[in-house]
Amino acid sequence: LRTPLALRGKVVKGYGRGSRQMGTPTANIETGLVKRALASMQPGVYFGWAKLNPPHGWPTVDSDVHKMVLNVGSRPTVNKGDEAPSLECHILHHFEGGQEFYGSELEVLVLGFLRPEIKFGSVDALVSRIKADIATARVQLDAPQLRAQAAVLLDK
Ligand code: ADP
Ligand code: MG
Repeated sequence: LRTPLALRGKVVKGYGRGSRQMGTPTANIETGLVKRALASMQPGVYFGWAKLNPPHGWPTVDSDVHKMVLNVGSRPTVNKGDEAPSLECHILHHFEGGQEFYGSELEVLVLGFLRPEIKFGSVDALVSRIKADIATARVQLDAPQLRAQAAVLLDK
């Protein structure tokens, strides 16, 4: 994968499992416009920066640049074989009052690969790994070279 890789798309509804079942909401990005990029990415977990670009006139939605982890693939631990591959972004930021931003554009800058896709033996095992992945991303993104890349999203 050639990084940095910038992707953007509309936040769409998923199966509501991210926050309900796993305590980690993931903004599902509409895959239509990024099919080519998706096809070039190995399924697994990536990290980088994210920024919301809400349409004009939206109520206050935080549109600062935040750290993010991005899952690309078919979610083999929970997928019963009936779901298309997805692109899901957990933003490392607490949005006030459990705010939702379906319909907003989300822009991500992918800077690195954390791990390939794994089919875990249990949802608990998956959840622990997600927490570990988030902790790793948090630390890696503090490196000055990666921190500096956040500006790329601000310039647009
Ligand atoms: P869905 O299956 O519809 O994607 P999730 O349970 O994964 O549902 O929750 C994702 C939604 O939660 C996002 O689309 C967004 O509107 C909201 N959300 C709130 N906080 C965050 C966050 N920190 N990262 C990602 N999405 C968040
Ligand atoms: Mg989700």
